[in-house]
Amino acid sequence: MTKVRKGVEVGGIVQGVGFRPYVYRLATQLELNGFITNTASGVSIEVEGVAGQVDDFVARLPREIPPLARVTSVAVRPLPANHQSGFQIISSRVGEVQRTLISPDMAICADCLRELFDPHDRRTRYPFINCTNCGPRYTIVRDIPYDRAQTSMAVFRMCPACQHEYDDPLNRRFHAQPNACWECGPRVELWDSAGQRVEASDPTVEAAGRLRAGEIVAVKGLGGFHLAVDATNGPAVERLRERKRRVGKPFAVMASALEAIERFCQVDVVARSLLLSPQRPIVLLPKIELNLMAEAVAPQQRYLGVFLPYTPLHYLLLAECGLPALVMTSGNISEEPIAIDNQEAAARLQGLADWFLVHNRDILLRSDDSVVHVVGGRPRQWRRSRGFVPVPVFLREEVPPILAVGGELKNTICLTRGRHAFLSQHIGDLENVEAFKFFGEVVSHLRRILAIEPEIIAYDLHPDYFSTRWALAHKDAKLVGVQHHHAHIASCMAENQLEGRVLGFALDGTGYGTDGRLWGGEVLVADYRDFTRAAHFAYVPMPGGTAAILEPWRMAVSYLAQHFGRGFWDLDIPFIKQLDRSRTNTLLRMIERGVNSPLTSSCGRVFDAVAALVGIRQRVTYEAQAAIELEMAMGDEAGTGFYPLGIIAEDTGWLIDTRPLFEAVMEDMRLGAPVSRLSQKFHHGLVEAFVRLAELLRKQTQLNRVCLSGGSFQNTYLFTHLPRRLEAEQFEVFTHADVPSGDGGLSLGQALVAAHQDFAPSP
Ligand SMILES: [Zn+2]
Ligand SMILES: [Zn+2]
Ligand SMILES: [Zn+2]
Repeated sequence: MTKVRKGVEVGGIVQGVGFRPYVYRLATQLELNGFITNTASGVSIEVEGVAGQVDDFVARLPREIPPLARVTSVAVRPLPANHQSGFQIISSRVGEVQRTLISPDMAICADCLRELFDPHDRRTRYPFINCTNCGPRYTIVRDIPYDRAQTSMAVFRMCPACQHEYDDPLNRRFHAQPNACWECGPRVELWDSAGQRVEASDPTVEAAGRLRAGEIVAVKGLGGFHLAVDATNGPAVERLRERKRRVGKPFAVMASALEAIERFCQVDVVARSLLLSPQRPIVLLPKIELNLMAEAVAPQQRYLGVFLPYTPLHYLLLAECGLPALVMTSGNISEEPIAIDNQEAAARLQGLADWFLVHNRDILLRSDDSVVHVVGGRPRQWRRSRGFVPVPVFLREEVPPILAVGGELKNTICLTRGRHAFLSQHIGDLENVEAFKFFGEVVSHLRRILAIEPEIIAYDLHPDYFSTRWALAHKDAKLVGVQHHHAHIASCMAENQLEGRVLGFALDGTGYGTDGRLWGGEVLVADYRDFTRAAHFAYVPMPGGTAAILEPWRMAVSYLAQHFGRGFWDLDIPFIKQLDRSRTNTLLRMIERGVNSPLTSSCGRVFDAVAALVGIRQRVTYEAQAAIELEMAMGDEAGTGFYPLGIIAEDTGWLIDTRPLFEAVMEDMRLGAPVSRLSQKFHHGLVEAFVRLAELLRKQTQLNRVCLSGGSFQNTYLFTHLPRRLEAEQFEVFTHADVPSGDGGLSLGQALVAAHQDFAPSP
């Protein structure tokens, strides 16, 4: 029988994830000869055998890959047969520029989990059990190529048993870089609140006992420390809130099992598969009314952020403490980055944690838990971090090497290479000194492990953003300033692999406009290269600047003054009656004189003003709290009717006038309408106005594609109903899923805008 030979080049995440043993097994099963080897950009395979079997191999190859592998390209070419016998795994070619993809950190797999609780397994109850299908990756990598010597496992020398597994192509731990066992690997220790080691025969059992007693334990995880406490113990959760100085922002909860989650949340099919996925994100789920959970876990929320254990240590801890769920919140004070180092944690979390459950496998790069919300039947990233980074966003076209430095809040950075855009993990709010330090670390670390030398640096136009200042200090690169909302729309376009012009609704808190004002309720006609501002909310003063973000009542007063002048004092509504007269008069004078009252067209501030006006919240303790609570106030009733918004033609575009909205709200309040009705009609009104605007702009521009982006799309109602209504009007609607709608997705858009600029040829 004649033999054929084929060469197969595979690109994607195919190294360090058990890909070569998988191919070895498939080839030997099909009685094929040949070899596989790692290359700079993936793996290279040659197979030889009976034609049908070779075709079968090529067809099955991408379909049956190991769980952590991700194939992005397969190129097949015919080769002359050379009648070599057997199939071999050939060691990596060295000396080439590494362009392969690194796997994200993954939750413990089913096989390792079974061994963990098997009393006869040599790794029974070993908190660092892992294999090529699971375990740490990104957070333990120091440099490339991804090899044990380049990870924080380098200090642990494998025992003969582990080494044997590591060297055996047919073993599940073949080339599993973090491979370890009781004999040779990292260990867990329990420390007291002063950071002193406590003698314990089993530190995990000891820590579980402390949790049962309502105490707070700092637990070292995959990407950083968590603060853990019994989620069903009200006073214990309150104590954690006080110590962490976190007033109202909800805590995430790690449940012992899916069945436990179903006792406090509604879990649908999509949510279930997300919860069980190897990425193990925090999933936001609707709370069941009466449940065991302490109210202090997520006060005034209809959603709860829930996840399942993802490290062996988590599984052991939850099994030992026997509690249905633990609060697992990042180990930090308010907005600082999450602690990763043992000594650092003991110092920074002193006074927060009663105990520390630490270990000696170093975390080299912190990575927070990812947060995902299911909207419109699809998972949407709110915070894209552990489990997803550094999987790239796949672009439609090749772009030059670019570093985009993101915004100020919820910062991420983005590096591009060919058709890959690598969005970093969540870095945080850069106004925080520690977070800004971390920003610098992520930039250099990612450049190193991705081997990218950026030629262009893209940044936000806001002159005071720390990321902007950082970028402007790099005079050796080509610098491109990108308008905030243009970046949001470009980010949505990039994720959906669009080209050409689109209508872009960029709705958020604030971003610096080309006129120096604070934009945020923007409709753009945009492509990657450029944009025009087709519509926006009418400007209103933000009295006190950022103080107006923290105190929504200021925005309510600003809107009332704008629409009703000083006559608003006569309006017969509770909001006016509870105002402090002298403070309000000071505010009004600031507005009239234009003192520290920047003009804004923000969509978020409209939410704030309405929330304050209807009595939901006058001051916030975390970002977007008033808007979130206004949405929660809608209740389950959909209701009918809506508050109108004016759409006024101006020379430069359309102006969205909020006067009719505020007049209608006042009238309903005068008539004593319940808050739920007010909130429903407000939300419906926004959707109606945006649909009308889209129709007006379609007439003007003939554009039928609409991109939705910006932090306001964390509002579930808006994110569900606006696309639905637009689609009913035959628009093609594009939204975010793998990339956050909020400022966490900004850097991707900046990179794409920068990629499409023309640069003067270098001399
Ligand atoms: Zn495993
Ligand atoms: Zn070992
Ligand atoms: Zn934004």
